Amino acid sequence: MTMDQRTLDNIATLIPAAQDKARAFMDAIAESNRLPTGWYVSIISGLRSYAEQDILYQEGRTTPGPIVTNAPAGYSTHNFGVAFDLGIFDADGRYIDDLPDRGIMSEAQVSDYYRYLAPIGKALGLIWGGDWESIDDEPHYELNLWPDLRETERLAKLRYLHSRGEEIE
Ligand SMILES: [Zn+2]
Repeated sequence: MTMDQRTLDNIATLIPAAQDKARAFMDAIAESNRLPTGWYVSIISGLRSYAEQDILYQEGRTTPGPIVTNAPAGYSTHNFGVAFDLGIFDADGRYIDDLPDRGIMSEAQVSDYYRYLAPIGKALGLIWGGDWESIDDEPHYELNLWPDLRETERLAKLRYLHSRGEEIE
């Protein structure tokens, strides 16, 4: 699959090990033929700085609009360049997450398409957000840096390394 500019730009924000996994994942998705003809996958989110995370966190709290995240700065693995989100687009280039609101597809169908891709990412050793008990985040994948740590412990270690300006690898 030729990766679009958005995908390339988002991959470039990740730490090297996550970049490698993201590229391998995109290649494996292309080879898998798990999506209908003409559909494609983009990486729509990569690194989010603490400042960017804080802006998101304030939405629906101190700034207008609905709440979009429960993670303050430092509490999303996106803040460390180890996580990325996939977006699935249909043959007309429409982001399928937008289709239920337009009556074109059900939420369950959208969910199914994201779930089809999960075994591919997991086979590469990535953690899948759809496996979390706290929040079900099917487009989300992240590097499994420390397999013996739980999610909260992994985040704490990432925050600690970040606060010391240490390399995450
Ligand atoms: Zn995510």
